[in-house]
Amino acid sequence: MNNPTIKEESYRDTISLVDKGGDRNWVYPKKPKGPLYTGRTWFSILLLAFLFTGPFLSYNGHPLFLLNVLERKFIIWGIPFWPQDLPLFALLMLTFVVFIIVFTVVFGRVFCGWACPQTIFMEMLFRKIEYWIEGDYKAQQKLDKQPWDVEKAVKKIGKHAIFFAIAVLIANTFLGYLIGVNEVEKLIIDGPTAHLGKFAALIIFSTVFYFVFAKLREIACIVICPYGRLQGLMLDKNSIVVAYDFVRGEPRGFRKKGVEQQLGDCVDCHRCVQVCPTGIDIRNGTQLECINCTACIDECDDVMTKINKPKGLIRYASQAAIVNGFAKRITTRSMAYSAILVVLVSVLTYLLATRKPVEANVLRTPGMLYQQQENNQVSNMYNFEVINKTFNTQQIELQITSPVGAQLKMIDRESAQFSLGEDGLVKGSFFILLPKETIKTNNTPMEIAVLQNGKLLTTLKSNFVGPVQ
Ligand code: SF4
Ligand code: SF4
Repeated sequence: MNNPTIKEESYRDTISLVDKGGDRNWVYPKKPKGPLYTGRTWFSILLLAFLFTGPFLSYNGHPLFLLNVLERKFIIWGIPFWPQDLPLFALLMLTFVVFIIVFTVVFGRVFCGWACPQTIFMEMLFRKIEYWIEGDYKAQQKLDKQPWDVEKAVKKIGKHAIFFAIAVLIANTFLGYLIGVNEVEKLIIDGPTAHLGKFAALIIFSTVFYFVFAKLREIACIVICPYGRLQGLMLDKNSIVVAYDFVRGEPRGFRKKGVEQQLGDCVDCHRCVQVCPTGIDIRNGTQLECINCTACIDECDDVMTKINKPKGLIRYASQAAIVNGFAKRITTRSMAYSAILVVLVSVLTYLLATRKPVEANVLRTPGMLYQQQENNQVSNMYNFEVINKTFNTQQIELQITSPVGAQLKMIDRESAQFSLGEDGLVKGSFFILLPKETIKTNNTPMEIAVLQNGKLLTTLKSNFVGPVQ
């Protein structure tokens, strides 16, 4: 959304983080305050509490959340997904991405401002510590400009030491989600030398988190985050974003006492710019850099209150709402995305509801035909695989049910009954034997019942190859 009263769109040719010389433009945002900031603070406390306790939450002795990418083992809300569930897990992720797109088309970047871990950690943890140690933006600028002395050294070293300690804490939590808290606990108790790989991962994660929050900051949102980069594709004039009401605000200008002026409500105080953590002027229009943090809404509302004007010169609104006074919430675009989402959710629900706790497969051993056996019998060899997708031990039995008179003889184990431990996988081979005189076709259909704890789980189908009499 552009501000049509701004003729010059040169601000789109540059980004706020880089100065004319190509160097980093360090942003010193003014400390925000106001009802939205307070609301975001409480909401982020809730999210941070959930994030840090997440790896410790368990259900029936197993983590509630585990995202073990290396072993392709995931637990979401206590539901385990094993490597065999990868297509289902991929569909789950795809559904989540489409949900985010639908949400963004309608509500803009609400997620970035209120729930993104980058914003939460940066604005609600690291930035607050910075304000606490170095003071508000002007004090920070002064401290950075002053020569190194005891005060500067104490403040800078103290701040970065706390930043690194928090980065280590985040890295431990992150590792807890990846490999489980028990493994992290072992690393802490046994020491780094006993788990060099995990320790190296911890150091790398800690350094990355420290670098992101101490140095990279808003660059992560503006340059690196793919979600941020895709905003231009997802937002349209009906999307609700943090927006400046140029209809009401322009022409902007400082009010001179006792002078009659034809001005809009914006007093050009620049407080919305000073408070912006990405260093932009929202009055230019919607920009890629805006993470919808709402700090400028709070700031401008405060100004409006002081000059006895209605709040909301900067507010959550769509361009259509600002220009026309009303907005279409349901558009063709949002309906099309919603339809895709409904289809995905339906397929996902069906797959989750019909997902079997134990998966079994049987395949006639490739490259082998039939074998002549004693007692005028013919055999075929099969490979089987049974996977336990639950946390409980399962008793499994294989039974040949068709054709009549067939026998099942295990090759690498004594019995067709076996137990399958948690996350267990049993592979093996067996023969099916048929009396030669019963073979009427060279491709006899065959059925094997798989019993789980004495109950029929599934019936596997294959075929039996034999000589026709
Ligand atoms: S804070 Fe409000 S009044 Fe001040 S410059 Fe920004 S939009 Fe204008
Ligand atoms: S323009 Fe406003 S909402 Fe957007 S990042 Fe800056 S302060 Fe936050």
